[in-house]
This record gives sequence, structure tokens and C-alpha cells, in this order.
Amino acid sequence: MTEQLADHTTLRLGGPIGQLLTHTHRDDWPDIAQAVRAHDLPPLILGGGSNMITPDAGYPGPVVRIASRGIRARPFDDERVDLVVQAGEPLDRVVDYATEHGLSGIEYLAGIPGTIGAAPVQNTGAYGQEISDTLASITAYDWRLQAAVQIPASACGLTHRSSHFKTIGNWTILSVTLRLRRSTSAAPVTYQRLAEALGTSLGSQPPLATATTGVRADRTAHGLSIPPSGPDSRQVGSVFINPTITQAQAEHIKQHGGPIHQGDDGRPRASAGWLIEYVGHSPGSPIATGIHCSTKRALTLVARERATSATFEEALQRLRHTVRATTGVALDVEPQIIKGVPLA
Ligand SMILES: Cc1cc2nc3c(=O)[nH]c(=O)nc-3n(C[C@H](O)[C@H](O)[C@H](O)COP(=O)(O)OP(=O)(O)OC[C@H]3O[C@@H](n4cnc5c(N)ncnc54)[C@H](O)[C@@H]3O)c2cc1C
Repeated sequence: MTEQLADHTTLRLGGPIGQLLTHTHRDDWPDIAQAVRAHDLPPLILGGGSNMITPDAGYPGPVVRIASRGIRARPFDDERVDLVVQAGEPLDRVVDYATEHGLSGIEYLAGIPGTIGAAPVQNTGAYGQEISDTLASITAYDWRLQAAVQIPASACGLTHRSSHFKTIGNWTILSVTLRLRRSTSAAPVTYQRLAEALGTSLGSQPPLATATTGVRADRTAHGLSIPPSGPDSRQVGSVFINPTITQAQAEHIKQHGGPIHQGDDGRPRASAGWLIEYVGHSPGSPIATGIHCSTKRALTLVARERATSATFEEALQRLRHTVRATTGVALDVEPQIIKGVPLA
């Protein structure tokens, strides 16, 4: 039976795959690269499929599922340890490994679905922490050079929920090196809701295990985890990035009771979830055929019966259009929309 993208994505949408190649061990990579090169089409790279919307028509070329596992610890200096992690290792497992070994720097990323190899692609982050905080370098396969290359984090173009991997896409990440601090205390809490969830104050440093347990509980309570079944079980998390806005837009949003965050560049950012609610949607709202806001938050869209990737994209366009028309704010879609290649 033909493999379907729907079997490998958390939205459970997407059609047939041309050829599925699964990368399970670093030694098998040369064979996988060779099998890909036998196709005329570029490879579609799949991690946990938790941040992509794949075409209903499927992908007729090679699809490489990254499932390589393994974590190796290497002292960097007296205070820091490098973890060299194979790309298919689940991010949440790496967080557990770090917690068990008294290594701090990724604790607030607990509970995020997907693989460590995909984390640099959108500079995955939460609760004031991003993978760029600890990423030292990656090893990637460069499809133009047809060779593995080492790329320092400083050359990855890591910004808020983006990187060169998201925008250019010539590389497949094979492993990442994280530089973590030896400490049984978490990084300082910088996010107000996290402080409340942990029953602590901004700037405090809870024990690592307290931090990861608190983050996972907060994610579940606020609809930031994938429930194993039920109406919210097919999703890709937040569908829009919190947008950078003008000072005038920030004033307008504040007047209407909306939250404003300050981005790393010092410019104001609005809450995409607040904007969606402001234009009239709320948890549970139907948006397009088979597509609803999740029962817990408007910023997560979920797929239900009769959903297709096309109706999911239609829902995204509707929300973008309404927010733009009402507030003038342009929303950028967070998950990757994978374009199919037309069959000849
Ligand atoms: C409930 C839920 C909560 C979430 N919460 C957060 C959150 O708090 N913060 C956040 O940032 N994200 C969040 N996400 C989004 C997602 O989980 C992360 O972005 C995650 O890092 C994606 O990992 P993945 O392996 O599933 O990537 P995939 O969906 O498989 O891939 C995403 C993109 O990366 C590419 N890619 C995957 N692996 C590689 C590789 N090895 N080399 C090169 N390219 C690759 C793919 O081609 C695709 O373009 C959430 C998603 C869900 C469903």
C-alpha cells in the first residue's frame, strides 16, 4: 500500500508519497542521499510532522523521514557540556536527558512535539527560551555540494521562529550540538505566565525538574500539547507567529486591552491569538470545512471530519484576511506549507 503523508503528520492530512526513505542511523545516510539523487525532484524532509501542512495531492518525489537517534555528551569547559544529538531524537527526550544529567538551557522547551533536527528550522522556542540560546552548531547535508557540512549557530540565520533552513532549504540537518550549562537550577524565569504556573517570581531559578514538570502541566492546561484523542488531537500548534507591529498599532491594541510583548529587536509584538479573538473568533469557532479553533485556544486550528489540507489553508487565509482588514496587522503563518509538485 502506498505510504501517505497523513500517516506521518500530526494534522493527519496529506496524500501519497513517491518514495519513503527512513534515516535511522548516521551510517545509512550515504545510501539515502544516493536514493534521493535518483529522483528528479528534491527531497521533502519529515521530522515529527508537527509543523507542516502537506498537500492533499501528496508528494510524488522522495520523502526522507529523519528517525536517527543518539545523544553523546562531551565536556566543553568546567561549566559547560556539549550534547551532540542525532536529528531524529525527539526534542522532549533531549530535555529529559539534560534534566537527568544536571544540564540547563533547554528546560522550558519541555513538551514541544517534534525532533531536535527540526528545532533550528524555526528556532523552536517557548516560555522565553529558544533553541538558539544553546545551539552551538549543526551538521547538515548540503544537497548542492552533496556533502556533509558543519555550520556554526551564528551562520544559521536564527531569528524569531525562523532561520536560513526555513527560508532557503538546501540543507538537511543530520545532528545538532547544544552547549548546556552544568546546573541543577533552570535558567531564570523571564515569562510572566511561567512564573505564575511555577508559583515563583520573574528572575527566579527553580530546580530543573520543577521547571520541566511545571512547563508540561501548563502546556496541557492551555492546549499547547496534542491530546491523544478527542476534538483537538489533529493539529500543528500555533498557526501564526506573534507579529511585529508599529507603535501606533501597539497603542491601539493596548487601548482595547490586548497584550504587547517586546521583541528581541526592541520592536513591539502583538499576540496573534489575541488578534484572532479580537476579530470575533474564540476557542471552538468553526473557520472552514472541518477546521475549527481548538477547544482551548483560538490560535491553534484543529482538523476534524471532512478536513483537507486545502480547507486548512483556506482557514488560514480567512483568518489572515479578517485580521488584516480589521486591524491592519499582517499575520505570518508559522507551520511550513509544503507545496506539492504537479504530476506530469
Ligand atoms: C501541540 C503543539 C505545540 C507546539 N508548541 C510549539 C512551541 O511552543 N514552540 C515552537 O517553536 N513550536 C511549537 N510547535 C511546532 C513544532 O512542534 C516545532 O516547530 C517542532 O520543532 C517541529 O518539529 P518536527 O520534527 O515535528 O518538524 P516537522 O513538522 O517534521 O518539520 C518542520 C519543517 O522542518 C523541516 N525539517 C524537519 N526536520 C528537518 C531536518 N532534520 N533538516 C532540515 N529540515 C527539517 C521540514 O521539512 C519542515 O519544513 C508545536 C506544535 C504542536 C503540534
